[in-house]
Amino acid sequence: MGLLSVIVPCLNEQENVSDFYHELLKNEEYFRGEGVDIELIFVDDGSTDGTVAGVKELIARDKRVHLVSFSRNFGKEAAMYAGLSSAKGDYVAIMDCDLQDPPALLPQMYQAITKEGYDSVATRRVNRKGEPPIRSFFARQFYKLINKMTKTEIVDGARDYRLMSRKFVNAILSMEEYNRFSKGIFGWVGFKNKWLEFENIERKKGETKWSFWKLFAYAIDGIMAFSTAPLAIASFLGIFFCIVAFIFIILIIIRQQTVGDPHDLVGWASMVCIILFVSGVQLFCVGVVGQYLAKAYLEVKKRPLYIVKEEL
Ligand code: UDP
Ligand code: MG
Repeated sequence: MGLLSVIVPCLNEQENVSDFYHELLKNEEYFRGEGVDIELIFVDDGSTDGTVAGVKELIARDKRVHLVSFSRNFGKEAAMYAGLSSAKGDYVAIMDCDLQDPPALLPQMYQAITKEGYDSVATRRVNRKGEPPIRSFFARQFYKLINKMTKTEIVDGARDYRLMSRKFVNAILSMEEYNRFSKGIFGWVGFKNKWLEFENIERKKGETKWSFWKLFAYAIDGIMAFSTAPLAIASFLGIFFCIVAFIFIILIIIRQQTVGDPHDLVGWASMVCIILFVSGVQLFCVGVVGQYLAKAYLEVKKRPLYIVKEEL
């Protein structure tokens, strides 16, 4: 008998826990037919509502349900890692609790791994229906930018919803970095990956946990985790301004020696502008270096990715 582990990161999803459970178990018959048991791991990412109580109710009725509860909110990336660490399955799926990741796709994903020889089947939404236009716009620009900056393929519209073989899961678990950006990590480990596409489904109940600024910070983290291009840009700017300064020095010397400069003191306004601009660029570049240093600092401290409060 094989085992399929389904990992569900949850932050304040009390309205969705039971709906998700019932929707997922619609696949029960199919998997039983394939000789595969299902285990469900809810990872509570520091919920402050009735999420944990909801999961415990399910555990009381069904011993295939498990709970890993964090001591506070550590973020979805940490929740996914915790789920992957405690999953025992030969196949492991990661799904959102809000039913935006249709469980009905699971049989098709399972077929791709067992019959078509893939190691992982990922999903991608082909549109962003129901999302604020400004958010979609920035999301698109982010994917364009990050793909220019890194060799790792990061797919626009990719969801974290995927089914993985044990080999693939072990590869993900071997990446113990603190600054986790799964969209990059999944691509980085390689293996044979299949993409399934589906139309965006709006969240049924509750609210999205991602504010615009939370997403923005996540985007910056993503770029920094998978690219050092910003550091290269900083060095490039340095070289560029050195060349400009050199050209100006030569021009000024030539002018001094030939026509002289009758207005020696005029031009202080443009001088101030140049000084302000160049010091702005310098501070920006120091900031970029500082950001990488800060990330390295966090990695070096080797703090755990999450703290478990309760495990059932
Ligand atoms: N989530 C989490 N920790 C967080 C934020 C979100 O575990 O800090 C979970 C959330 O409960 C949900 C999934 O991650 O199951 C996706 O979050 P959400 O639906 O809010 O994101 P969206 O679909 O709007 O991108
Ligand atoms: Mg959602």
